[in-house]
Amino acid sequence: MKDDQLTPGRRKVLRAAAALGLAATAGCAGADPSAAPGPTAPSGAAAAGPPAARALKPSAYRLQPMAGHGPPRAPRALPRVRKAPILRLDRRDRSMVLTFDDGPDPRYTPAILRTLREYDVRAMFFVCGEMAADSPDLLREMADDGHLIGNHTWNHPLLPKLSRAATRRQIESTCDVIEHLTGEPPAWFRAPYGAWNRNAFQLGAEYGMEPLAWTVDTLDWTEPGAKAIVRRVYAGAAPGVVVLSHDAGGDRSGTVDALRTYLPDLLASGYRITVPNRYTT
Ligand SMILES: [Zn+2]
Repeated sequence: MKDDQLTPGRRKVLRAAAALGLAATAGCAGADPSAAPGPTAPSGAAAAGPPAARALKPSAYRLQPMAGHGPPRAPRALPRVRKAPILRLDRRDRSMVLTFDDGPDPRYTPAILRTLREYDVRAMFFVCGEMAADSPDLLREMADDGHLIGNHTWNHPLLPKLSRAATRRQIESTCDVIEHLTGEPPAWFRAPYGAWNRNAFQLGAEYGMEPLAWTVDTLDWTEPGAKAIVRRVYAGAAPGVVVLSHDAGGDRSGTVDALRTYLPDLLASGYRITVPNRYTT
C-alpha cells in the first residue's frame, strides 16, 4: 500500500483528530503514547523570538493530497534523552549552521530560499506546524532544496507552561504535518523561546528528534535592521557555530537583507555553511 492511500482506520483517526481541531497520530518515528509522564521542571528559558501563541485550529493540509512517499522506511533509532540542548557543532573546521525559525512565511521565506539557492548552501528551518500547514508549497520547496526542516511546535507556546499532553500535541501535530508534506519526519526539535523542560527533551527524543538550540542569536526578532544582524553574525562567526534568525513572526526584511550580505562574505572568508548529522554533533 502506498502511504498516500489512507486506510479506513487512518481515515477514522484523521476525522476524529480534525473534529478535535488537532493533527493526528502516525507520523513521527518512534512515537509511543504510552510512555510514562515525567515532571515538568523548567530548565532555563531564553527569550528568543516574538510571542506567537495562538489557538490550535483544524489543519487545512489534511484536505490536500499528500506528498509522494517512497516505500516504507525502517524505524529510526531513537536519540537518547538529553538534559540540555545542543548549542553548537563539535567542529574545528570553519563550518557554521544557519537556522531560520517560526516560518514558513510567504513574505520572507521565498527570498531566503532564493539566496540560499544562489550560493548552493543548505540551512535549517525550524517551522511551526500551523505555518507549515498554511504554506505547504514552501515546505516542499525547503525539502526539495535539501534544507533540514525541524519541529518548532504547532503554534509557538511557552512549553514549560503546558501540560505533558499539550506538549505532546504540539510536537506530534507538527511532526505529522512535516512528514506528510515532505515525506520525511523531522530529526531536530527546537523549543520556542529556548524554553526547554524535561517534557520537551523526553518527547522530542520519543518522536525521534535531537534538541538543537543556538550559539549566536542575531536578535533579528527585535527588528534592528540588516546592518546590526550582519554585525552580530560576523562577531559570532567561529567553527561549529549555530546562528539563530527568523523568517516569520514580524517584519523580517532585515533578516532577508542581512543574509544577502553575510552569506557571500562568510563563504569568501572560508566558512562552509553546513547542516548537522544526527548523533554526530
Ligand atoms: Zn521561535
